[in-house]
Amino acid sequence: PLVADQIAAGEVVERPASVVKELVENSLDAMATHIDVQIEDGGRQLIAVQDDGLGMDGEDLVLSVRRHATSKIEVLEDLTRSMTLGFRGEALAAISAVSRTHLFSRLRDQAYGFHLVVDGGQIGELVPTPMAEGTLIRVEELFFNVPARLKALKSAHAELGAIQQLLQHYAIGYADVAITLRDGEKILWHTLGNGQVPDVILQLFGSEIADSLLPVQYEQEGLIIQGFVCPAIKNRGTRQGQSLYINRRWVNNWVLRNAIEEAFRPHLPDRRYPYFWLFITVDGSEVDPNAHPTKSEVRLDHERFIAGKLYHAVQASLAANSP
Ligand code: ADP
Ligand code: MG
Repeated sequence: PLVADQIAAGEVVERPASVVKELVENSLDAMATHIDVQIEDGGRQLIAVQDDGLGMDGEDLVLSVRRHATSKIEVLEDLTRSMTLGFRGEALAAISAVSRTHLFSRLRDQAYGFHLVVDGGQIGELVPTPMAEGTLIRVEELFFNVPARLKALKSAHAELGAIQQLLQHYAIGYADVAITLRDGEKILWHTLGNGQVPDVILQLFGSEIADSLLPVQYEQEGLIIQGFVCPAIKNRGTRQGQSLYINRRWVNNWVLRNAIEEAFRPHLPDRRYPYFWLFITVDGSEVDPNAHPTKSEVRLDHERFIAGKLYHAVQASLAANSP
């Protein structure tokens, strides 16, 4: 198939964790309350994401794997104020161009669903099928037709680790959604979907961490910062256990991260990284999610200003609770 699809695919799909990211974002956009992620062989054999969201009818299912098919942009200005996670309409086209993908979807209140196979970008026949409401996407043999990408994959253990880390950000960011991660049949973790961030942290990081959370709360001039930090030192050799959200979207932003780590400095030994889960709310027009194709890096107006406020909010929380 289409070279354009394969080039686009390379931008969106770098490794199994990028597939998981796109599929889970789609499930969240479809207002799922339960999302089940199953991985086999670090995502080489299988990445399956099942949700109980709105689903698609047959026509939309076929459209969903075409490039630039998105149901999410109605007017152009939406691009800067996008409240949904996806908006480019490239992910499913890209993923199904570089794998053998089975899509199953049943629109809410429909009697049955549809099954569509896309094999390396070749779209098959739409087949009606009985199934639960919602959507199941099974991505098999990822990169079977892109040898360079396949060769660049790390061990199953490392790819699964990357998936776990990524999914953690979504589990915490969407505490009202019950998310399960399985390696084959084995459940690695699951969250309850009760909306309580500390409960998600308990499921993901254990009671020692969950029992020593400190709340962060700041609100002024249209800027809200809330969430939790944790001064525990256990296992702090990596940045796992750090999640930062802007307007609910998980982001990678080193300026903001540095500000938080700076606030922790007096409280942690050298070369230790703090735990934090912080939600920043700003006026949507200050955020440009288009800065990077995978969208985890965003452009932010007044970044230094927000970094300063973050620093003080975290510092205040740590100071208020230090012995
Ligand atoms: P985008 O998310 O940028 O719109 P995608 O390629 O990720 O593009 O998905 C294409 C379209 O397929 C979406 O706009 C949506 O209409 C539909 N879709 C994809 N996944 C799901 C899902 N899990 N539930 C319902 N609809 C979905
Ligand atoms: Mg999407």
